[in-house]
Amino acid sequence: MKPNRPGTPPLPPWADAPHWAAVNHTIGYWLAKRPAAMRRVSRLAGRLQSRMDDLDPQMRALSRSLCHDCAAPCCAHAKPWFDLADLLRLHLCRLPLPPGQPIGSVHERCRYFGPKGCGLPRRIRPWICTWYLCPAMKRALNRNGAESVQRAVAALDTVKNLRRRMETAFIDTLAADVQAGGQ
Ligand code: SF4
Ligand code: SF4
Repeated sequence: MKPNRPGTPPLPPWADAPHWAAVNHTIGYWLAKRPAAMRRVSRLAGRLQSRMDDLDPQMRALSRSLCHDCAAPCCAHAKPWFDLADLLRLHLCRLPLPPGQPIGSVHERCRYFGPKGCGLPRRIRPWICTWYLCPAMKRALNRNGAESVQRAVAALDTVKNLRRRMETAFIDTLAADVQAGGQ
């Protein structure tokens, strides 16, 4: 893929089929190569998935009440993609890998958006798709009281934090391996 020029919108990483296959192969390779060292990464992925599953009923309820009649569905113009933390979670939690990035460029529409909404189960969507609370969702949360908003924001922050820790632990493990000569 061409590198981004300054001032141009960011490009989704691993957007074509060979890069998508390569990044997933590489992640799988490193997880299998150092299973003991990757245990911490794996534990963090398990905690992350569990926090995301905790969020699921609330997000599902919001979607059920709002998305069905939405006049301007966010997915029609969203520009989401899977990042490293998304892929690590999918690999480590043994979840199915989607066939590719949702978009190949910022000019495309998400390939998983269909007449019935998202074609991906929530657990295997990019995190940004769960993280995004549209104005209607925020208003609905607000109607349930400030505490409800605070709880949702705190839960999203916990997920964000676990994603960062898992990704850092993975990179640190790779760095240690490289420093040791990759034996
Ligand atoms: S999340 Fe909000 S903007 Fe997106 S489809 Fe649902 S109601 Fe519409
Ligand atoms: S992956 Fe699913 S939730 Fe995310 S933008 Fe595409 S259709 Fe919407």
